[in-house]
Amino acid sequence: MAKKQFKAESKRLLDLMIHSIYTHKEIFLRELISNASDAMDKLYYKSLSDGATGLSREDFEIRLEADKDARVLRIRDNGIGMTQEELDQNLGVIAKSGSLKFKSENEAAEDIDIIGQFGVGFYSAFMVADHVRVETKAFGAEQGYVWESDGADGYTIRECMKTTHGTEITLHIKEDTEDEKYGEFLDTYRLRSLVKKYSDYIRYPIRMEIEKTRAKEGAENEYEHYFEVETLNSMVPLWKKNKSELDDDAYNNFYKEKFFDWQDPLKVIHTAAEGTATYNALLFIPEKPAMDYYSRDFEKGLQLYASGVLIMEKCGDLLPDYFGFVKGLVD
Ligand code: ADP
Repeated sequence: MAKKQFKAESKRLLDLMIHSIYTHKEIFLRELISNASDAMDKLYYKSLSDGATGLSREDFEIRLEADKDARVLRIRDNGIGMTQEELDQNLGVIAKSGSLKFKSENEAAEDIDIIGQFGVGFYSAFMVADHVRVETKAFGAEQGYVWESDGADGYTIRECMKTTHGTEITLHIKEDTEDEKYGEFLDTYRLRSLVKKYSDYIRYPIRMEIEKTRAKEGAENEYEHYFEVETLNSMVPLWKKNKSELDDDAYNNFYKEKFFDWQDPLKVIHTAAEGTATYNALLFIPEKPAMDYYSRDFEKGLQLYASGVLIMEKCGDLLPDYFGFVKGLVD
């Protein structure tokens, strides 16, 4: 199949990613894991509403796999997957409003930290990879498809053999340079700490085989290597935890990750009520109001969860107008 070109606005963002001088390249992992989690949410909701998928919650997982010698990192999910059309549409253009905002506001290079603020989704993979391969099969579909790209010069989509539904992203990690040690993203310990830092509350297990050593049986002072699959994230939502277990860092990291701020909040309010209405609430007063706070487009609201599942991204009714700047969630 002939190479397709990225849409113009995507190409600009992509160029920025490829030549990125952005220091937090590590966020690519957060972005790809979030996409995987979203894809599993979609399939999980489908299984709740249609009831016919035969899947239960425990069946879902994200797998990470690193191969140092081949310089390959894989992120695999068993979510809803993509059809050929979806592959073309979703990965050929920027869908995210945050990304579009990023594009329109990113005239000056020092604004690059806006990446951390909004996240740039899938394309962030090109900050660390010189080749990206996306193998996917939509749930219920017969045929799988593979999307491949080296970045700026376009992408191809071909049929491929894939037996299971879901998506596997294979990143060929860039060669190390004087300034950048991309190889760190192939290190299991580094990957584990990145998952902890950014993706700890992802509600599906993120698993990886970790190499370990143990004393050889029956032999003294002899050790052997073996692999064990570990779940890297804690999954329990922060707001369900006891306040005594949580320190400032835990709250601040949660806030920044969840509400796309790059600054710590001024104040955190963690509260719960039991009675006619029973809820957990976690509220944050941002250091600065949202960029669009004084514009007509600004939408106040708190995230609304039910039993740890996100129901509404911005529930305006939970906040009076004069507290419109408050961010947070109610479960
Ligand atoms: P965003 O996630 O903000 O929409 P992205 O650029 O990260 O933007 O992804 C674009 C789209 O590609 C997503 O909205 C989703 O439809 C699709 N997508 C990305 N990753 C996956 C995945 N692992 N499984 C299924 N669909 C995916």
